[in-house]
Amino acid sequence: MRYDVIIIGAGPGGIFAAYELAHKSDKKVAVFEAGNELANRKCPIDGEKIKHCVNCRSCSIMSGFGGAGAFSDGKYNITNDFGGTLYEYIGRKKATELMEYVDGINLKYGGEGTKLYSTTNTRIKTVCMQNKLKLLDASVRHLGTDINYVVLENLYNDLKDKVDFHFMTPVKKVEVIDGGFRVTTDSGVYEADKCVASVGRSGSKWMEQVCEELEIPTNSNRVDIGVRVELPAELFAHLTDELYESKIVYRTEKFEDSVRTFCMNPYGSVVTENTNGIVTVNGHSYEDPKKQTKNTNFALLVAKHFSEPFKDSNGYGESIARLSNMLGGGVIVQRFGDLVRGRRSNRKRIEENFVTPTLAAEPGDLSLVLPKRIMDGIIEMIYALDKIAPGTANDDTLLYGVEVKFYNMEVQVNEHLESKYPGLYVIGDGSGVTHSLSHASASGVFVARDIIE
Ligand SMILES: Cc1cc2nc3c(=O)[nH]c(=O)nc-3n(C[C@H](O)[C@H](O)[C@H](O)COP(=O)(O)OP(=O)(O)OC[C@H]3O[C@@H](n4cnc5c(N)ncnc54)[C@H](O)[C@@H]3O)c2cc1C
Repeated sequence: MRYDVIIIGAGPGGIFAAYELAHKSDKKVAVFEAGNELANRKCPIDGEKIKHCVNCRSCSIMSGFGGAGAFSDGKYNITNDFGGTLYEYIGRKKATELMEYVDGINLKYGGEGTKLYSTTNTRIKTVCMQNKLKLLDASVRHLGTDINYVVLENLYNDLKDKVDFHFMTPVKKVEVIDGGFRVTTDSGVYEADKCVASVGRSGSKWMEQVCEELEIPTNSNRVDIGVRVELPAELFAHLTDELYESKIVYRTEKFEDSVRTFCMNPYGSVVTENTNGIVTVNGHSYEDPKKQTKNTNFALLVAKHFSEPFKDSNGYGESIARLSNMLGGGVIVQRFGDLVRGRRSNRKRIEENFVTPTLAAEPGDLSLVLPKRIMDGIIEMIYALDKIAPGTANDDTLLYGVEVKFYNMEVQVNEHLESKYPGLYVIGDGSGVTHSLSHASASGVFVARDIIE
């Protein structure tokens, strides 16, 4: 089978590459996706019969149409301050333009009426500064898990007759052939003039293998390690009502490490996430008030970079997550009061806690899991946040661990996001260049336009 363009991965990067090709050219396009189509993506964890991850063949949370972002909170951040370094390749102006273009498509496909928040010139920024905290600049479109799903559904209905989708078809191998590329799957071998790899975080190991086989240079990336904090929504309402998501950075006094807030979910739920068999914690929230909870959750993360001789930052993060999986059978939850008193949380204390957990995690002791330097940074940050949102450092604040944000190694690509093989593009989170819905989607539009030109 021969196509003009083969796209590997149907996450935001792959979808928006396919969208642009389908709408702006007559190219014959195929998308290969390791996971299911959207309607068949169901995580078996129901909190009752199945409480823990059962390691499905393809993780419905991370894989399938919509990629890792399908059940996300759909916080679409239009900024070059975080979410990736796409601007280093294509320039800040172009990157912003493309993020805004995708935002427009999201609105057209079901997101109209959703709110766009902005951090510019807010009083909160000054209050943060006065308390040694830095609020990063961004415009945030909050789609919410429910509307995000509707947008994906509409995009799929639009694309399914224009593009050949091959679901549950992981690409095993990519080869460079005369005049293009050959991809091998369990259901056959396909060829194309151009190939776009957009395999996200779940495809990180696969991407590494492809780079090794094709001798494409890569660089190691950082890993972010920390916890997810859950507290009564009222305590953060003055921030979340105005900004929805605030990305706040704190420089610790003890080690001068940066600790940052990440993925804030007002009235949201804490959820588990499975990356290559390792269970970590994440969070989301719904736009629909009926599905909202009384709690707000967000992550506190510390970035770790490594230099020679150790290069495997993801391996380091995985080992810490494995340790928490070993002690707690999955995600561990601890009251802040228990953590600072040096004792484990137990079922009774969690049951009597003023904040009711939204995830059924195992009560335990996070100080047995996280390295001291990271733990100290998180505790310092909680006390710093307590100054701008009093109550953050209450005994009843819940900490879930561990949250690890893995970054793919950075694949060497040029200003066209093309590898050393002309016509082989590597985009989205799988390239190590982006780490967000907005940057990944923008990279997809960018390469589609490059291919059309
Ligand atoms: C729970 C959760 C919440 C999140 N919330 C937000 C948020 O609110 N805002 C935000 O900006 N970001 C959020 N993110 C991150 C965001 O989802 C990612 O940055 C984004 O999805 C990256 O898009 P991508 O297309 O590069 O990769 P992905 O979305 O990971 O998609 C890659 C796809 O490729 C497929 N694939 C992998 N290997 C192969 C192979 N060999 N063959 C075929 N297919 C393959 C995978 O199955 C997957 O579907 C969240 C992530 C999670 C997990």
